[in-house]
Amino acid sequence: MSNSIDSTSLENPYILLTPGPLSTSPTVRATLVRDWCTWDDDYNLGVVTPIREGLVNLASSIAPEKFTSILMQGSGTFSVESMIGSVVPETGKLLVLANGAYGDRLAKIAQYLKINHIVHDSGELERPDLEKLEKALDADAEISHVVVVHNETTTGMMNPLEDIARLVKNAGRILMVDSMSAFGGVPLDMEELQIDFLVSSANKCIQGVPGFGFILCRISELEKAQGIARSLSLDLYAQWRGMEDGHGKWRFTSPTHVTRAFYQAMMELEEEGGVAARYKRYCENQRRLVTGMESLGFRCVLPEAYQGPIITGFHEPDHEDYTFRKFYDLLKEKGFVIYPGKVTGIDSFRIGTIGHVFPEDIDRLIEAVSESMYWTKSGAAL
Ligand SMILES: *Cc1c(COP(=O)(O)O)cnc(C)c1O
Repeated sequence: MSNSIDSTSLENPYILLTPGPLSTSPTVRATLVRDWCTWDDDYNLGVVTPIREGLVNLASSIAPEKFTSILMQGSGTFSVESMIGSVVPETGKLLVLANGAYGDRLAKIAQYLKINHIVHDSGELERPDLEKLEKALDADAEISHVVVVHNETTTGMMNPLEDIARLVKNAGRILMVDSMSAFGGVPLDMEELQIDFLVSSANKCIQGVPGFGFILCRISELEKAQGIARSLSLDLYAQWRGMEDGHGKWRFTSPTHVTRAFYQAMMELEEEGGVAARYKRYCENQRRLVTGMESLGFRCVLPEAYQGPIITGFHEPDHEDYTFRKFYDLLKEKGFVIYPGKVTGIDSFRIGTIGHVFPEDIDRLIEAVSESMYWTKSGAAL
């Protein structure tokens, strides 16, 4: 078997401007070198339990006692599927707010699990229609749960979570949030917003390595979820009981190395100054990115008012010599990996600004982009 990747080098050849997996710190990666016993207190009490407590404190500072956290094997989608499939009862009806690929995925999960659901799709470039939401909640008493993506990673759009939460809670329904690409990097308090369930994963804003997700739950609502799950391995209630009764023990094989790395990542989040400080860094990264890219003639896909600090879409140059592949390869050679676009009908590419990435890295990126604009000799005007 031949392998062109030098597996003996511990240095990253490039930084990942892709929001998950993303670039992690050398100290997070360094924790991966040792093995852990899933039966032992060193792991369950020393690693899993403090992670669970730490996540609850990130979820709500005003009423952490009302929440619990559950870690779930798999990528982020597994945790979303666990939440939806374990919380909406057979008699329930789910309203999905969608404005991108991740919103569509929420609906697809409901479809696979044969959960009664309706979808409000506002299109990839628009925010959810709040008036339509309010009317639907008013008109349809069957709707028991609402689910929405916080930061729609398809475009980088930050959905108006506060407004949505207010409408859903005024109508007395259960609110679930896919905050995969925002939690830990964008300030939020689940109690303040009255969110009942929220999902994120190890390899997004907390800056761990991929391998598990986590679900933050309002305990009073989670207690009602016994026996609802449509899947054994993704049974949220059973996973919770397992972790509570076993003092940090996962029901099935735990991704031990990934979990230990995540613990390190959580400590580094705290050292940085918590979510507020991380949010500030991400915002600065994104601000420099947009300023730099616009100075080179690129245009953002989203209006500024909708744009979050996580990932930004740019229109591709309208030039016959341009291909994403070639642009991508040139940037990769210079140490930066970017993301293809995902918006239907718009030729675009995306650049993430989360992870172990700092404003100086973004300045270097802009230099690299400027040097990689092979389709324009002057290096300006698209
Ligand atoms: C990353 C992400 C997910 C989960 O994707 P996985 O590939 O399963 O980890 C879900 N929702 C959003 C908004 C995301 O950004």
